[in-house]
Amino acid sequence: MKAVVYDDELRLDKRYLAPKPDKEDCLVKVDVAGICSTDLEIAQGYMEFSGVLGHEFVGTVEQGPKHLKGKRVVSEINCVCRKCDMCLAGLATHCRHRTVMGIVGRDGCFAEYVTVPEHNLYEVPDSVTDEEAVFAEPVAAAYQVIAQCPVDKRTKVSVVGPGRLGLLVAQVLKTTGCDLTVVGCNAKKMEICEKKHIQTVHLDELVPKRDRDVVVECTGAPNGLDIAMELVRPRGTIILKSTYADRGQMNLAPIVINEITLLGSRCGPFGEAVNALARKAIDVQSLITKTYPLDKALKALEHAEEQDSIKILLKC
Ligand SMILES: [Zn+2]
Ligand SMILES: [Zn+2]
Repeated sequence: MKAVVYDDELRLDKRYLAPKPDKEDCLVKVDVAGICSTDLEIAQGYMEFSGVLGHEFVGTVEQGPKHLKGKRVVSEINCVCRKCDMCLAGLATHCRHRTVMGIVGRDGCFAEYVTVPEHNLYEVPDSVTDEEAVFAEPVAAAYQVIAQCPVDKRTKVSVVGPGRLGLLVAQVLKTTGCDLTVVGCNAKKMEICEKKHIQTVHLDELVPKRDRDVVVECTGAPNGLDIAMELVRPRGTIILKSTYADRGQMNLAPIVINEITLLGSRCGPFGEAVNALARKAIDVQSLITKTYPLDKALKALEHAEEQDSIKILLKC
């Protein structure tokens, strides 16, 4: 089968061995996959991963239990043991023995087929298109923000970095009615916020007052954390969504001095994400920059690196 493979270098392999599902796994034909910043980092060798890239997809079950066969599905990306202390404590995304699709020890979905454990799958309602469903994973990651840090109408919240994840986080926060601003520097992305009646502040015009209760850092760059530390109030919370490939020279003293809570945040509730997409509570359509065929995946990954691009999709 065709697959986008990374092993020290990135290539489109046209004869990659198609996966064979074992007992617990389903074989899923990938319909549409989404490129996220993590894929771009892996493609630069930062996570020491080798194998098929990709973890955001919607597909159709070809092999698996009867009730799932032929069903359109999205999939949780962490494949877990369900036996370790983390799994038993209800923290399966932190499973001690997990593999993660296209990220840790398991082939991903930038391919014609992928195998995933049956209990990872969520059926996609008919009202949700493939182009919407492919956003389930990042929308879940966005919902994780309010799962970890409840906010309400009185909470002053800023999102730093209106990128492919930040724009979803901002929309999820908007649903809470909180006092929300988005800080960024890309005119196109800020415009998307404005259209959704989300207030924006250009980085050049930002006058940090250390008055935000919660700041969500989604820039993917270490200086995003510097900005977040200038925005958040003493005893406030910074939610870190970025995994910095380049740590740079970080000064964490403000965290101590201002007694800031720093909250790491990763994968989120899939069911809630699929629901939100079905209710059209989160708009993802306007975030799609372009869709490429799998054959042009390398070009697609290049396009995803560009400043103005938001979500690039692959038709597999
Ligand atoms: Zn992702
Ligand atoms: Zn486990």
